[in-house]
Amino acid sequence: MSSLRLEFGAERRRYTKSRRRALAAKVDRPARPGAFLQQGGAATPKLIMSKNIFEKIIAREIPAEIVFEDETVLAFRDINPKAPAHVLIVPKKNIPRLSEAGAADEKLLGHLLLQAGAVARQLGLDKTGYRLVINNGRDGGETVAHLHCHILGGRPLAWPPG
Ligand code: 5GP
Repeated sequence: MSSLRLEFGAERRRYTKSRRRALAAKVDRPARPGAFLQQGGAATPKLIMSKNIFEKIIAREIPAEIVFEDETVLAFRDINPKAPAHVLIVPKKNIPRLSEAGAADEKLLGHLLLQAGAVARQLGLDKTGYRLVINNGRDGGETVAHLHCHILGGRPLAWPPG
């Protein structure tokens, strides 16, 4: 074996050992997207959930063009519009997706839908028509894990969607 290969092997073992040690000591890396472990006092790690992008918009921590708000829902323009009018309406309560909503959310979901209609009216979309879309899970095209309803309009929309 050449001395170069021997040197590389030793270097690799050193790296792996120190990386393993660093990983073992580190407790604040994400356990899963959005979740962080933090050393809570003596020995028990505490699970801390970070806010998702829509919760940050609701909390006014990041800007958005808000078009409607009441106690339980917020509507704001999509940052990457797919139609001349593209607004998202979200519950302030964090329900990750429709499939995780339960019977306790019945009133909230009804309100979300009614307010989506009211926002469409406010935008003048009821005259020509509009579409409401809820993407659920991977195959549904969901990219933000906070229930939201797209309100799309301002042009004829093709059917079926891609
Ligand atoms: P989904 O693909 O989950 O159904 O929809 C997520 C939507 O959120 C996308 O249309 C995307 O453009 C929008 N979005 C993602 N990040 C932001 C943001 O920071 N601000 C706003 N206004 N919209 C966002």
